[in-house]
Amino acid sequence: MEKINFIDLKQQYLAYQTEIDQAIQGILDSSQFILGKPVTDFEQALAKFVDVPHVISCANGTDAIQLALMALDIKPGDEVITSVFSFIAAAEMIALMGAKPVFVDIDPRTYNIDPAQIADKITERTRAIIPVSLYGQIADLSAIQKVAEAASQCFGHQIVVIEDAAQSLGASYQGRQSGSFTTLATTSFFPSKPLGCYGDGGAIFTDNAAFAEKLICLRMHGEVRRYRHQYIGLNSRLDSIQAAVLEVKLKYFADEIEKRQVIAARYAQLLQHDAITLPIIAPGQQSVYAQYSVRVQHRAEVIAQLTKAGVPTAVHYPEPLHVQPCF
Ligand SMILES: *Cc1c(COP(=O)(O)O)cnc(C)c1O
Repeated sequence: MEKINFIDLKQQYLAYQTEIDQAIQGILDSSQFILGKPVTDFEQALAKFVDVPHVISCANGTDAIQLALMALDIKPGDEVITSVFSFIAAAEMIALMGAKPVFVDIDPRTYNIDPAQIADKITERTRAIIPVSLYGQIADLSAIQKVAEAASQCFGHQIVVIEDAAQSLGASYQGRQSGSFTTLATTSFFPSKPLGCYGDGGAIFTDNAAFAEKLICLRMHGEVRRYRHQYIGLNSRLDSIQAAVLEVKLKYFADEIEKRQVIAARYAQLLQHDAITLPIIAPGQQSVYAQYSVRVQHRAEVIAQLTKAGVPTAVHYPEPLHVQPCF
């Protein structure tokens, strides 16, 4: 029986091998390993793809969230709203900044944060909302932004929406790309994400020049110029080798997204069954299917049967965040 990988990174590498090998060799030849042209080239190419004025790359998608929170000066005592059902990174970075993660439940159809439940959780301490665009479908950002704007007026300070687009890079809503809807958005290039590199990587998107300028400082020890530190920052940069790999893969990303649509349509057709809840993609949305997630009855048995048939599965996620020991 042929072994199927949950995510086949080797197959993808082989498809672009010559170009990727050349790109990596180019970095070795130039020995420009940190920032410089390879990184700015990729940032510009990605800015064009997502259609945002500024892309600031960094070391990973978790740092991207932390940097976005640092750009907003999130402090102890602040509250930041996020989804209770996601990978931990957003909630973790909110807590790491000394702020309080305030969990909001999801819409069971899309698995994304339910905008209707956000208003009740907003207080005078709320500084930001981090919706996660889970499994590759963009959260209902226009509804979330409406709630944020209404509350901003009510409390007299801006409540900023930050899209966590780690799973949704390449997804679109009414033709507009994930990462381009909010003042700040973040993504990850972890190898198994829709646009993955060959190690860790991440980026922040913004339409705000002042945030962009600050983020460029924050990712490099808060430096405004060499050895002049305006802010307490991080050491969080995208390696030039990763930028070179990503620039090659970005060229083929649109084709891959199309293939993901075809495969998802095939699953939807073949998995029609009363006991299976298929992904529900809201009108106008194009999911990038970071995961093709279904709900089933008798999950353990289904997993066992699939394993026996050589089909790998994963549970995303076995527990919501509010029951994690760290919270
Ligand atoms: C993967 C992921 C992250 C973190 O990205 P890293 O690059 O692994 O740090 C953040 N949020 C979500 C929703 C993710 O899936």
